[in-house]
Amino acid sequence: MSQLPVADTAAVRAYAKRLIRQHRSRLVRMLSLYALAAFMALIPAYVIGEITNYAADHQLTSHRITIDVGILFVSSILYAGLSFLARRRSYLLGETVFAQLREEFLESVLALPLVEVERAGTGDLLSRTTNDIEALSRTVRFAMPEWLVAVVQALLTLIAMTIVSPLATVASLVSLPILFVSTRYYLHYATPGYRRERMSYATMSGSVSETAEGARTVDAHRLGARQGKRIEGNIRESFYSEMYTMLMRMVWFPTIESAFALAVATTLAWSGWLALHHDITIGAATTVTLYVVQINDPIDRIVSWLDELQVGQMSLARLVGVSVVRDDRPTEGVEPSNETITMNDVRYAYRPGFDVLNGLSLTIRPGERLAIVGPSGAGKSTIGRLLAGIDAPRSGTVMVGDVALASMPLAMLRRHVALVTQEHHIFIGTVRENLALAKPEADDDEIVRALDAVDALEWVQALPDGILTELGTTGYQVSPAQAQQLALARLVLSDPHTLVLDEATAMLDPRAARHLERSLVAVLRGRTVVAIAHRLHTAHDADRVCVVIDGRIAELGTHDELVALNGEYASLWSSWRNEKPGAS
Ligand code: ATP
Repeated sequence: MSQLPVADTAAVRAYAKRLIRQHRSRLVRMLSLYALAAFMALIPAYVIGEITNYAADHQLTSHRITIDVGILFVSSILYAGLSFLARRRSYLLGETVFAQLREEFLESVLALPLVEVERAGTGDLLSRTTNDIEALSRTVRFAMPEWLVAVVQALLTLIAMTIVSPLATVASLVSLPILFVSTRYYLHYATPGYRRERMSYATMSGSVSETAEGARTVDAHRLGARQGKRIEGNIRESFYSEMYTMLMRMVWFPTIESAFALAVATTLAWSGWLALHHDITIGAATTVTLYVVQINDPIDRIVSWLDELQVGQMSLARLVGVSVVRDDRPTEGVEPSNETITMNDVRYAYRPGFDVLNGLSLTIRPGERLAIVGPSGAGKSTIGRLLAGIDAPRSGTVMVGDVALASMPLAMLRRHVALVTQEHHIFIGTVRENLALAKPEADDDEIVRALDAVDALEWVQALPDGILTELGTTGYQVSPAQAQQLALARLVLSDPHTLVLDEATAMLDPRAARHLERSLVAVLRGRTVVAIAHRLHTAHDADRVCVVIDGRIAELGTHDELVALNGEYASLWSSWRNEKPGAS
């Protein structure tokens, strides 16, 4: 199964740049506030340096101490206030950017062509909408602001140190190569380790839930020992991958700590030596050493948020990747001149080299009821998908009137042809909302008529709040048959000219299915109905029957003509009738 694409670094960078451009003024204001706060945080060390100078020169008076303590007090209050405002701004900005990311991602997901989603499988999309969004949320809301703040603090502290004494500052740089090299190594070796760790968790929980869900099968086939061994293997893999990342942290953290300690020690020794030789004042030595202690914290945050930022970048690449898939369906097109549907020499393959439709030609007249029957795997559902324009043929054409389905915009296409299969979804919401998806402007009368057309009115009216009853996991749970009726009612409301029903009544019992089909036909007078059916009463009631075998039309005619022909259909019909006496 091919996955959805992942955006390359250039595309991710371009996307991030666009985001920054859009929010530039808010970002600049937030960083300025942080810079002001960081500036306030620099004042105490400077004041302590001054006090040390006065003490060394025996000029420390109680008046000076009062002034300095006042400055310390005011700068601390200002630091707290500015930090609060800056942090508030950064969280607001983080939330705004994250909301925008999520909305843009949702738009790209909704714009994905159905075929792409089917090809990639829902697992990939689901993991992007959950895991990647979750990871990105951490990055955008916390990691990115914290990291930027740490960069601002570290830079300002470095500038302050250099202003106080460039000579003394040099000693603090001794830890930079150690930090740089060890962090590079850590990221190089730890990142794949974290990826492996996450994958091992996913595999382990997958194995456990699969075993629990399939407990009966596991029991029936005595697979307990095999599953146990598999889970044990998964746990072992998780254990070793965790051991690996733990080892990485065990080496990296102490290295970083030692680098910080080394920076403080060398700065203290070097600036002390400079002060002793009167190259700098004792106050400058004190201030610079305090700044080195102070800078350790933002540098620590800069390096420790780096792997979170990397995870965020990976997730962003996966989210932006979804928007790379473009729907090549046109947005404008010409309305067809009539509603005749023609398939001309159509070939189609799910996998290259394996055609499932082999040069199939078929004309469906407007207003006709056509039943498509045939053995399993003959290609009936594939015909349905091509008729509904979900897929385009590999060669040949599928046309409504004089327009190829593939060249029609989706909204226009759905006015002409729509498909209902066995798979349908009930959304959380009322019965009314579930139906109105197909026609938002529908009034209650229309909703009731649509429900009546699919024999669902009786049970819907018996619900506590009628059409306003909540459905879905939190409300009334409909049966598969009822869900099928609601899907058909949506189709009645959207009222396309041609309806393709692929086993759309399979969940209903045969008698109810036949009744529903008949009431549908009464409502859909004048509409073309293509019904793909296992139950041959559908074929019996249709205007024409098309028998598909091996991706080709084997027989085509009315029920009576095909029975008289005594071919494939006649034998299907007689065996079906023998199974269901009194079926017609
Ligand atoms: P059934 O009555 O069992 O639903 P059908 O006549 O509707 O069968 P199709 O579902 O159209 O047959 O399938 C035709 C062929 O295409 C089958 O061989 C099937 O295995 C194959 N096929 C269907 N869907 C896919 C897919 N998504 N990927 C690959 N092959 C597929």
